[in-house]
Amino acid sequence: MRSKIVAGNWKMNKNVAESKALAEGLVSELNGVSLDNTRVIVSPTFVNLTTVLAATEGSAVEVAAQNMHQEASGAYTGEISADMLTSVGIKSVILGHSERREYFGEDEALLAKKTDAALANGLEVIYCFGEVKEEREANIQEKVVAEQISGALFHLDAAAWSNIVLAYEPVWAIGTGLTASAEQAQEMHAFIRGFVADKYGAEVAENVSILYGGSCKPSNAEEIFSKPDVDGGLIGGASLVAADFAAVIKAI
Ligand code: PGA
Repeated sequence: MRSKIVAGNWKMNKNVAESKALAEGLVSELNGVSLDNTRVIVSPTFVNLTTVLAATEGSAVEVAAQNMHQEASGAYTGEISADMLTSVGIKSVILGHSERREYFGEDEALLAKKTDAALANGLEVIYCFGEVKEEREANIQEKVVAEQISGALFHLDAAAWSNIVLAYEPVWAIGTGLTASAEQAQEMHAFIRGFVADKYGAEVAENVSILYGGSCKPSNAEEIFSKPDVDGGLIGGASLVAADFAAVIKAI
């Protein structure tokens, strides 16, 4: 049975004191809330990972990194390796966010390498993808998403998929206030699950969690999460306020 997951992507927000306060606020908001089969993840910047790990210790809140480098070590000034993440206690990493693709030129070939490095180090990968507005308008979103998934992940063997989480984030909905309708999300998530099933079979497809991301907030989360193939969300803006993020989590 696949998990439900609500993950907060803090992006380049919150200094160390603010990160600590947000993490503590979230832990306190979730105190006494029954999470059943739902995982809660927050993803602060690299420099605040250990602070947030400490602030969430003993709680249900997990901590993920927002990115990592594909090489194990060496002359890559400014970069962070998978081993560095696991050595401080990180167990998951977000890869392929549309902002990484757009501003840092990340493509599927690179993301395949990052995925391999993450999995080889025992990290779970939250793999993000999604079409831009022009692609949706041209009605080629399924082709785009299929290429993004197959290009970075279809070299993996079936067993590796137990450490993969998919996050469909239509770029036109990220930070714009425009959300995919619950029907649009369900339609795409069902397509994605079918696409994974065609390659790996029904069991892998049924077990992979597929998150929706893009302007998901307390007012629309419940409807989006009610869809059968939507297993949770990757939340940007609404994860920066503890009460809002807690409300999104409770919507599941
Ligand atoms: P948003 O961001 O919720 O602010 O739209 C989502 C994301 O980029 O993960």
